[in-house]
Amino acid sequence: MLNKIIVIKIGTNVITNDKCLLDELVISKLAAQVAVLKKHAYAVILVTSGAVGAGRSLVKPNVKLSKVETRQVLAAVGQIKLANTYLSRFHRLGISCAQVLTCKEDFRDKQHYLNMKGCLSALLKSDLVPIVNENDVVAVEELMFTDNDELAGLVAVMVKADRLIILTTVDGVKDDRGRIIAVIKKRSDYQRFVTSEKSSFGRGGMSAKCATALRSAKFGTKTHIINGKISNGILKVMAGEKIGTTFAPLKKKYEKNYRHYRRR
Ligand code: GLU
Repeated sequence: MLNKIIVIKIGTNVITNDKCLLDELVISKLAAQVAVLKKHAYAVILVTSGAVGAGRSLVKPNVKLSKVETRQVLAAVGQIKLANTYLSRFHRLGISCAQVLTCKEDFRDKQHYLNMKGCLSALLKSDLVPIVNENDVVAVEELMFTDNDELAGLVAVMVKADRLIILTTVDGVKDDRGRIIAVIKKRSDYQRFVTSEKSSFGRGGMSAKCATALRSAKFGTKTHIINGKISNGILKVMAGEKIGTTFAPLKKKYEKNYRHYRRR
Protein backbone atom coordinates (compact mmCIF):
# COMPACT_ATOMS: atom_id res chain seq x y z
CA MET A 1 0.00 0.00 0.00
CA LEU A 2 1.14 3.52 -0.79
CA ASN A 3 2.25 5.78 2.05
CA LYS A 4 0.08 8.61 3.26
CA ILE A 5 0.18 11.41 0.73
CA ILE A 6 0.66 15.10 1.44
CA VAL A 7 -0.08 17.63 -1.27
CA ILE A 8 1.64 20.99 -0.77
CA LYS A 9 0.53 23.98 -2.83
CA ILE A 10 3.10 26.74 -3.15
CA GLY A 11 2.04 30.20 -4.28
CA THR A 12 4.15 32.46 -6.49
CA ASN A 13 4.54 35.07 -3.76
CA VAL A 14 5.87 32.47 -1.33
CA ILE A 15 8.82 31.56 -3.54
CA THR A 16 9.66 34.95 -5.00
CA ASN A 17 11.50 37.73 -3.20
CA ASP A 18 10.85 41.47 -3.22
CA LYS A 19 12.88 41.78 -6.45
CA CYS A 20 10.45 39.29 -8.07
CA LEU A 21 13.20 36.67 -8.37
CA LEU A 22 12.80 33.05 -7.31
CA ASP A 23 13.89 32.93 -3.68
CA GLU A 24 16.30 30.01 -3.65
CA LEU A 25 16.60 30.07 0.13
CA VAL A 26 12.86 29.66 0.59
CA ILE A 27 12.83 26.83 -1.96
CA SER A 28 15.74 25.15 -0.15
CA LYS A 29 13.86 25.34 3.12
CA LEU A 30 10.73 23.88 1.53
CA ALA A 31 12.79 21.05 0.05
CA ALA A 32 14.35 20.37 3.44
CA GLN A 33 10.89 20.04 4.99
CA VAL A 34 9.83 17.66 2.22
CA ALA A 35 12.94 15.59 3.00
CA VAL A 36 11.85 15.31 6.64
CA LEU A 37 8.34 14.25 5.60
CA LYS A 38 9.79 11.61 3.31
CA LYS A 39 11.96 10.32 6.16
CA HIS A 40 8.72 9.87 8.09
CA ALA A 41 7.39 7.75 5.21
CA TYR A 42 5.06 10.33 3.69
CA ALA A 43 4.74 10.61 -0.06
CA VAL A 44 4.73 14.26 -1.16
CA ILE A 45 3.32 16.03 -4.20
CA LEU A 46 4.12 19.69 -4.77
CA VAL A 47 1.77 21.89 -6.76
CA THR A 48 3.77 24.99 -7.46
CA SER A 49 3.08 28.29 -9.12
CA GLY A 50 5.86 30.60 -10.15
CA ALA A 51 6.47 29.88 -13.84
CA VAL A 52 5.06 33.19 -15.03
CA GLY A 53 6.72 35.00 -12.11
CA ALA A 54 10.11 33.42 -12.85
CA GLY A 55 9.71 34.23 -16.55
CA ARG A 56 9.15 37.90 -15.71
CA SER A 57 12.58 38.13 -14.17
CA LEU A 58 14.24 36.50 -17.20
CA VAL A 59 12.69 38.01 -20.35
CA LYS A 60 10.83 41.05 -21.54
CA PRO A 61 8.28 39.74 -24.03
CA ASN A 62 7.71 41.82 -27.15
CA VAL A 63 5.29 44.63 -26.25
CA LYS A 64 3.20 43.85 -29.33
CA LEU A 65 2.22 40.43 -27.99
CA SER A 66 -1.31 39.85 -26.72
CA LYS A 67 -1.99 39.10 -23.06
CA VAL A 68 -2.27 35.39 -23.79
CA GLU A 69 0.94 35.33 -25.87
CA THR A 70 2.77 37.22 -23.13
CA ARG A 71 1.67 34.66 -20.55
CA GLN A 72 2.76 31.85 -22.85
CA VAL A 73 6.20 33.35 -23.37
CA LEU A 74 6.73 34.09 -19.67
CA ALA A 75 5.55 30.63 -18.62
CA ALA A 76 7.62 28.86 -21.28
CA VAL A 77 10.78 30.62 -20.11
CA GLY A 78 9.95 30.59 -16.40
CA GLN A 79 8.87 26.95 -16.08
CA ILE A 80 12.36 25.70 -16.95
CA LYS A 81 13.89 27.97 -14.34
CA LEU A 82 11.28 26.95 -11.76
CA ALA A 83 11.76 23.23 -12.39
CA ASN A 84 15.55 23.58 -12.40
CA THR A 85 15.52 25.40 -9.10
CA TYR A 86 13.48 22.64 -7.45
CA LEU A 87 15.62 19.99 -9.13
CA SER A 88 18.88 21.38 -7.79
CA ARG A 89 17.52 21.93 -4.28
CA PHE A 90 16.11 18.40 -4.07
CA HIS A 91 19.20 16.90 -5.66
CA ARG A 92 21.35 18.22 -2.80
CA LEU A 93 19.12 16.33 -0.40
CA GLY A 94 19.31 13.11 -2.38
CA ILE A 95 15.68 13.38 -3.51
CA SER A 96 14.60 12.93 -7.12
CA CYS A 97 11.70 14.95 -8.44
CA ALA A 98 9.59 14.83 -11.58
CA GLN A 99 7.80 17.55 -13.52
CA VAL A 100 4.09 17.18 -14.29
CA LEU A 101 2.49 19.89 -16.41
CA THR A 102 -1.23 19.60 -16.68
CA CYS A 103 -4.33 21.23 -18.10
CA LYS A 104 -7.94 21.20 -16.99
CA GLU A 105 -8.67 18.67 -19.76
CA ASP A 106 -6.68 16.11 -17.77
CA PHE A 107 -9.51 16.09 -15.24
CA ARG A 108 -12.26 16.30 -17.86
CA ASP A 109 -13.49 12.73 -18.32
CA LYS A 110 -12.85 9.31 -16.90
CA GLN A 111 -10.13 8.41 -19.41
CA HIS A 112 -8.13 11.58 -18.84
CA TYR A 113 -8.75 11.46 -15.09
CA LEU A 114 -7.53 7.88 -14.71
CA ASN A 115 -4.54 8.61 -16.92
CA MET A 116 -3.45 11.50 -14.69
CA LYS A 117 -4.14 9.47 -11.56
CA GLY A 118 -2.05 6.59 -12.94
CA CYS A 119 0.80 8.97 -13.75
CA LEU A 120 0.91 10.45 -10.24
CA SER A 121 0.65 7.03 -8.70
CA ALA A 122 3.53 5.71 -10.87
CA LEU A 123 5.72 8.66 -9.84
CA LEU A 124 4.98 8.13 -6.15
CA LYS A 125 5.60 4.39 -6.42
CA SER A 126 8.98 5.29 -7.95
CA ASP A 127 9.76 7.34 -4.83
CA LEU A 128 9.76 10.62 -6.76
CA VAL A 129 8.37 13.98 -5.73
CA PRO A 130 5.98 15.10 -8.48
CA ILE A 131 6.20 18.84 -9.05
CA VAL A 132 2.94 19.85 -10.66
CA ASN A 133 1.96 23.06 -12.38
CA GLU A 134 -0.64 24.06 -14.90
CA ASN A 135 0.77 23.96 -18.41
CA ASP A 136 0.34 27.70 -18.90
CA VAL A 137 2.22 27.53 -22.18
CA VAL A 138 -0.52 25.68 -24.03
CA ALA A 139 -3.54 25.96 -21.72
CA VAL A 140 -6.50 27.53 -23.49
CA GLU A 141 -7.38 30.72 -21.64
CA GLU A 142 -11.10 29.97 -21.26
CA LEU A 143 -10.42 26.44 -20.05
CA MET A 144 -7.76 27.16 -17.44
CA PHE A 145 -7.99 26.26 -13.75
CA THR A 146 -9.25 29.18 -11.70
CA ASP A 147 -5.77 29.06 -10.15
CA ASN A 148 -3.30 26.51 -8.81
CA ASP A 149 -5.32 26.24 -5.60
CA GLU A 150 -8.05 24.61 -7.65
CA LEU A 151 -5.47 22.33 -9.28
CA ALA A 152 -4.02 21.38 -5.89
CA GLY A 153 -7.51 20.56 -4.59
CA LEU A 154 -8.21 18.35 -7.60
CA VAL A 155 -4.88 16.56 -7.16
CA ALA A 156 -5.50 16.06 -3.42
CA VAL A 157 -8.87 14.46 -4.07
CA MET A 158 -7.49 12.43 -6.98
CA VAL A 159 -4.76 10.80 -4.85
CA LYS A 160 -6.95 10.73 -1.72
CA ALA A 161 -4.37 12.80 0.07
CA ASP A 162 -4.15 12.67 3.82
CA ARG A 163 -3.34 16.40 3.89
CA LEU A 164 -3.43 19.40 1.62
CA ILE A 165 -1.24 22.27 2.83
CA ILE A 166 -1.75 25.54 0.98
CA LEU A 167 1.20 27.88 1.46
CA THR A 168 0.50 31.56 1.07
CA THR A 169 1.93 34.84 2.36
CA VAL A 170 -0.62 35.52 5.09
CA ASP A 171 -0.95 33.70 8.39
CA GLY A 172 -4.29 32.11 7.60
CA VAL A 173 -7.92 33.12 7.08
CA LYS A 174 -8.70 36.22 9.13
CA ASP A 175 -11.95 37.43 10.66
CA ASP A 176 -13.10 41.07 10.64
CA ARG A 177 -10.86 41.87 13.61
CA GLY A 178 -7.79 40.44 11.92
CA ARG A 179 -7.69 37.31 14.08
CA ILE A 180 -6.85 34.00 12.45
CA ILE A 181 -9.82 31.64 12.23
CA ALA A 182 -8.29 28.42 13.58
CA VAL A 183 -10.84 25.92 12.27
CA ILE A 184 -13.33 26.17 9.44
CA LYS A 185 -16.05 23.58 8.98
CA LYS A 186 -18.47 25.31 6.67
CA ARG A 187 -18.71 28.20 4.23
CA SER A 188 -20.47 30.51 6.65
CA ASP A 189 -17.43 30.30 8.98
CA TYR A 190 -15.40 32.45 6.58
CA GLN A 191 -17.68 33.81 3.86
CA ARG A 192 -18.42 37.19 5.39
CA PHE A 193 -14.76 37.92 6.15
CA VAL A 194 -13.13 36.95 2.89
CA THR A 195 -13.03 39.00 -0.28
CA SER A 196 -12.18 37.81 -3.77
CA GLU A 197 -9.19 40.20 -3.89
CA LYS A 198 -6.13 38.60 -5.53
CA SER A 199 -2.48 38.55 -4.55
CA SER A 200 0.02 40.57 -6.60
CA PHE A 201 1.37 37.80 -8.85
CA GLY A 202 -0.73 34.71 -8.24
CA ARG A 203 -4.08 34.19 -9.92
CA GLY A 204 -5.84 33.00 -6.77
CA GLY A 205 -7.21 34.91 -3.81
CA MET A 206 -8.25 33.91 -0.29
CA SER A 207 -11.82 33.30 -1.36
CA ALA A 208 -10.73 30.75 -3.99
CA LYS A 209 -8.32 29.18 -1.49
CA CYS A 210 -11.09 28.74 1.06
CA ALA A 211 -13.45 27.23 -1.52
CA THR A 212 -10.78 24.71 -2.55
CA ALA A 213 -9.84 23.95 1.05
CA LEU A 214 -13.44 23.38 2.07
CA ARG A 215 -14.06 21.10 -0.89
CA SER A 216 -10.96 18.98 -0.24
CA ALA A 217 -11.91 18.71 3.42
CA LYS A 218 -15.38 17.61 2.43
CA PHE A 219 -13.78 14.76 0.50
CA GLY A 220 -11.73 13.65 3.49
CA THR A 221 -8.44 15.56 3.15
CA LYS A 222 -7.50 17.64 6.18
CA THR A 223 -6.56 20.98 4.64
CA HIS A 224 -4.49 23.85 6.00
CA ILE A 225 -3.86 27.38 4.82
CA ILE A 226 -0.63 28.62 6.39
CA ASN A 227 2.06 31.22 5.84
CA GLY A 228 4.69 29.61 3.63
CA LYS A 229 7.37 32.04 4.78
CA ILE A 230 7.37 30.96 8.42
CA SER A 231 10.15 28.68 9.53
CA ASN A 232 9.27 24.99 9.23
CA GLY A 233 5.57 25.77 8.82
CA ILE A 234 4.82 22.48 7.07
CA LEU A 235 6.50 20.43 9.79
CA LYS A 236 4.81 22.45 12.50
CA VAL A 237 1.38 21.85 11.05
CA MET A 238 2.14 18.14 10.63
CA ALA A 239 3.24 18.01 14.28
CA GLY A 240 -0.15 19.36 15.26
CA GLU A 241 0.90 22.92 16.12
CA LYS A 242 -1.97 25.32 15.85
CA ILE A 243 -0.84 27.59 13.08
CA GLY A 244 -2.87 28.97 10.20
CA THR A 245 -6.38 27.84 9.41
CA THR A 246 -7.44 24.21 9.35
CA PHE A 247 -10.37 22.92 7.33
CA ALA A 248 -11.63 19.95 9.27
CA PRO A 249 -12.12 16.84 7.13
CA LEU A 250 -15.48 15.22 6.88
CA LYS A 251 -15.85 11.46 6.72
CA LYS A 252 -14.00 9.97 3.76
CA LYS A 253 -16.33 9.42 0.86
CA TYR A 254 -14.12 9.81 -2.17
CA GLU A 255 -15.46 7.16 -4.47
CA LYS A 256 -19.08 7.96 -3.85
CA ASN A 257 -18.64 11.65 -4.45
CA TYR A 258 -16.10 11.49 -7.25
CA ARG A 259 -18.59 12.13 -10.04
CA HIS A 260 -20.33 14.88 -8.14
CA TYR A 261 -16.98 16.61 -7.51
CA ARG A 262 -16.05 16.63 -11.16
CA ARG A 263 -19.37 18.12 -12.17
CA ARG A 264 -18.89 21.22 -10.01
N1 GLU B 1 0.48 28.43 -13.10
C1 GLU B 1 0.83 29.81 -12.82
C2 GLU B 1 2.35 29.96 -12.75
O1 GLU B 1 3.06 29.00 -12.62
C3 GLU B 1 0.25 30.33 -11.54
C4 GLU B 1 -1.23 30.16 -11.36
C5 GLU B 1 -1.69 30.68 -9.99
O2 GLU B 1 -1.25 31.76 -9.59
O3 GLU B 1 -2.45 30.02 -9.31
O4 GLU B 1 2.82 31.07 -12.81
